[in-house]
Amino acid sequence: MNESHRYLPAVPLEHGVVRITAIETSIPEDVMPGLLLIRVHAEGGWIGHGETYYAPQAVAALLHDWMARRLLGGDALAIESHWRFLYERAANFGVRGAELRAISAIDLALWDILGQACRQPVYRLLGGPVRSRIPVYNSCGNPSYGRNPSGDQGWPGYGSLGKPGPLQDSYLLFHDPCALVEELIADGYSAVKTWPFDAAAHAHGGMRISLADLDSAVKPLREIRARFGDRIELMVDGHGFFMLPAALRIADALREVRPLWLEDVLKTDNIETLADFRRQSRMPISVSEMLLSRPDFARTLESRAADFIMIDPTWAGGISETARIAHMAQAYNVPSTMHDCTGPLTLFAGLHINAAVPGCCFQETVRAHIRTFYKDLIDVQPVLRDGYADLPKGPGLGVRLNADLFRPDRPGYRISRWK
Ligand SMILES: [Mg+2]
Repeated sequence: MNESHRYLPAVPLEHGVVRITAIETSIPEDVMPGLLLIRVHAEGGWIGHGETYYAPQAVAALLHDWMARRLLGGDALAIESHWRFLYERAANFGVRGAELRAISAIDLALWDILGQACRQPVYRLLGGPVRSRIPVYNSCGNPSYGRNPSGDQGWPGYGSLGKPGPLQDSYLLFHDPCALVEELIADGYSAVKTWPFDAAAHAHGGMRISLADLDSAVKPLREIRARFGDRIELMVDGHGFFMLPAALRIADALREVRPLWLEDVLKTDNIETLADFRRQSRMPISVSEMLLSRPDFARTLESRAADFIMIDPTWAGGISETARIAHMAQAYNVPSTMHDCTGPLTLFAGLHINAAVPGCCFQETVRAHIRTFYKDLIDVQPVLRDGYADLPKGPGLGVRLNADLFRPDRPGYRISRWK
């Protein structure tokens, strides 16, 4: 038996096999620093598209120098077989970030090939649709996400204020919050996520937060709630900066603006402390795109640490694992939400999962990305209107990475071939 069918022994290798012939990766630092793009080529001319985000050179090394010898010549349609094999090999040394990001990127590309081969969108192969459109909210990023003000690569997730200009949502939040929400409501959004406590963490660390810093961070949210009442939902992301006493103080200060959820106010490296935070704060808590794979989320759910589960499909193990986590959360009556900010195929993967898993309740979107540089990465843009996204159209992911990004002369381009 071919090694690639270890987990699918009932499928004869001779029948229905579409072998993987090449794996290409590209690192488009000139478009979105930190992004890793992948194309998986298979017999019959199928091309599957995938991506992940953060430390792309490390992920490319894992894909070409370690995982390719399992994948090249293997069955492109045997998604679960490859997922489990690679997960278990990585489990031998801890299954953490770069390994799961590489598995995630491959997983997206293989689902894309399967969808194209079946002539169906991925959400149908996952058993959907369970809804006709997907609720979205706008995260207040800036078009320059992943870059610092000088244009060099920054520290995504560390929080930057941005600068004046179109779609500078983070900047606008602090300088004219009601104008920002007016714009978003005019765009059809009814929910918005902000991260107003980053500046306090940068200035003083996460060990404590002063009453003055609390007040200046909550002020724009207070103004939004006073002006727009219940026409807008507010979510607050703490980017994992704070320790327990500061997180509790922040939760207490936010009570007056009635947020839909508090996300990663507390660091996520101790699930029991997160559960303690939820019990003490008595506020709705979202946990967390910073967790990886089912075991992390299983502990979170068992510890009663979350009111909402937030999953990044290209960090946590691809469409396969994200759908499994979302189904698992539903067994606890905890809704799932899909993370974005991390690339266009992450968004499309999230849309497919949202379309297929009943317990999903929201897709994060960043208008500052979609309306500026996503056109330089993908051929089809997501359709957002009236606070919802349309279901993706077309077979597979329903979107392709621009072929120009895979020119061999581009910096960071690599290809591994079968034979
Ligand atoms: Mg977040």
